Amino acid sequence: MAAVRARTVLLTGANRGIGLELVKQLLRAPRPPAWIFATCRDPEGPRAQELRDLASKHPNLVLVKLDVANPSAVTAAAKVVEGKLNGAGLNLLINNAGIYTPTASLETVDAEDMIRTYKTNAVGPMIMAQVFLPLLKKAARDSTEKGLSCSKAAIINISTILGSIEKTPESFFHPVISYRCSKAALNMLTKCQALTYGEAGILCVALHPGWVKTDMGSQEADLTVDTSVRGLLSVLPILSEKHSGALLNWEAGQVLPG
Ligand code: NDP
Repeated sequence: MAAVRARTVLLTGANRGIGLELVKQLLRAPRPPAWIFATCRDPEGPRAQELRDLASKHPNLVLVKLDVANPSAVTAAAKVVEGKLNGAGLNLLINNAGIYTPTASLETVDAEDMIRTYKTNAVGPMIMAQVFLPLLKKAARDSTEKGLSCSKAAIINISTILGSIEKTPESFFHPVISYRCSKAALNMLTKCQALTYGEAGILCVALHPGWVKTDMGSQEADLTVDTSVRGLLSVLPILSEKHSGALLNWEAGQVLPG
């Protein structure tokens, strides 16, 4: 199986669930990245213990405090990352952090939940891309690769099929209004980012990880986190300009309707 060759990678929400498993599998790759910036809200707290244990064994893993819903925290984190990179660019930004209100039907959802979810799931990835853009552009400029790829410069937004407008009737028994709307916005954001950042050599793609056994997905879910992340990491190396702006599935990267 081809592995992603990005030298430098940054992930959000890296302390548990899909984000933590991405870190673990990237560290185990045949040629692991030179730097993995695993960001989370509270790197000193109990929920980041596993990440801290990994960092104590892997000098290429750097923990950085970052709350995607707080723009000034994103700017502060970018300064830390830039310092570590010491003149190099950032090849791969994975916007993974997300929140979900399982009970949000049209009867129960309120403005506060809608705004909170939108702020984390859609505004967060927008700000992350804006703030890390100079480092992503640098990686693209420094690369000798032709075309767009995850090893050159890429923004991967972890989205969901629940954000697909066309597919909504198939899953509407589970309305999750705030989550769906925020992820539909994320899919649109990905398209807009692809159309804008593509010229600078940055690939922008949204990925659906499947229904995964995590705190968010619950233990009822179809996939183990290991299977989902193995799938996601096998899709990254096959991505190119033809996928730019699309929502793709975790398994073999099939295009999903937006
Ligand atoms: P989890 O609930 O297990 O983990 C969510 C992660 O996001 C945690 O690390 C959490 O950190 C972090 N997070 C939440 N809010 C913020 C914030 N404001 N700033 C920084 N980090 C934050 O979820 P999953 O691992 O299952 O989900 C990861 C991504 O995959 C999400 O974007 C989700 O929408 C998507 N996805 C998941 C599916 C599933 O079935 N699990 C299906 C489809 C998509 P903390 O510990 O601080 O709360």
